[in-house]
Amino acid sequence: MNLPIGLGIPEGPPPTLAPRRKTRQLMVGGVGVGSDHPITVQSMTTTKTHDINATLQQIAQLATAGCDIVRVACPKTVDAEALPAIAAKSPIPVIADIHFQPKYIFAAIDAGCAAVRVNPGNIKEFDGRVKEVAKAAGDAGIPIRIGVNGGSLDKRLLEKYGKATPEALVESAIYEAGLFEEHGYGDIAISVKHSDPVLMVEAYRQLAAKTDYPLHLGVTEAGPKFMGTIKSSVAFGALLAEGIGDTIRVSLSADPVEEIKVGDQILQSLNLRPRKLEIVSCPSCGRAQVDVYKLAEEVTAGLDGMEFPLRVAVMGCVVNGPGEARDADLGVASGNGKGQIFVKGEVVETVPESKIVETLIAHANRIAEEEGLEQVAGAKAEVKVTR
Ligand code: SF4
Repeated sequence: MNLPIGLGIPEGPPPTLAPRRKTRQLMVGGVGVGSDHPITVQSMTTTKTHDINATLQQIAQLATAGCDIVRVACPKTVDAEALPAIAAKSPIPVIADIHFQPKYIFAAIDAGCAAVRVNPGNIKEFDGRVKEVAKAAGDAGIPIRIGVNGGSLDKRLLEKYGKATPEALVESAIYEAGLFEEHGYGDIAISVKHSDPVLMVEAYRQLAAKTDYPLHLGVTEAGPKFMGTIKSSVAFGALLAEGIGDTIRVSLSADPVEEIKVGDQILQSLNLRPRKLEIVSCPSCGRAQVDVYKLAEEVTAGLDGMEFPLRVAVMGCVVNGPGEARDADLGVASGNGKGQIFVKGEVVETVPESKIVETLIAHANRIAEEEGLEQVAGAKAEVKVTR
């Protein structure tokens, strides 16, 4: 059955919760950062940077997952020596992450990194080297991120405030940015990360009110996948809902590809990035006439990789099922061992429960073909229908 179908692309730009806070603009390699550009998702490699092949392989995985900008650690000379090859071969801009040793800042700039992240709280004699850093970065035309972190706050501010309060984080960042500005360098992004989402949100709010630098959001050391996802989502959500934030990094004790998936989904949820596949599935309850969890997982797996916006409803019974399925681009309302398949609000067929997944995938692929898009659904995941 070939019904004409409009995909879930809304007319005009989709609504967001607030206009973006106006910032100055930066270029990190070929990626724009600031209010004139889409919010970007970052992550950081977990490989030893001096293992060039492993690092490039992980960067490729992150890029495939949707990572816009990647950061690599540079703790040793061998890591600094690997930066030219990594910067040259990476498919996305590489930021060198420098702690402790100012000499690696210059090595990273010489290596062709797209930007450098410095942590003024733990770089030796950093204040005295700002002039040199500003000149080297300015000559190379690359930005610097001043990355203040609650766990490694400048000792002076720790003494002044007693602990890493939002005020202390902000004062540190503004002070360091001011040193760069004194030397005529303003190509700066700032982060004021804290592991407590409440303190983090407050720090970024204060910072946003005081500067026009682009802000890189992060709840640092957010925790394992589940907890870290929640902490990052609520904190980023609060700030992004106020228009604050130009790049984000979800910090998880998990594969960094997971960080990209979470970051991507946070932005999609707030209409800050075009929505792709969206599964609307019910939580199931005593009325369910199908194993909703299994069905939703199988449909999600089967449609993995879908690059165009498609809202798919997977509903367990006829209470809310038909309503949600009708509102979606594609949907199923299950009951009595059957699934009513909806396409854009119309029931197009009723299939036995065992055929629901493959039928939904077939319709999704047909829609993709009609839109001139590559067939993606079902191509990446082998879907076994077991019912
Ligand atoms: S759609 Fe039906 S099964 Fe799913 S939660 Fe609602 S009432 Fe329960």
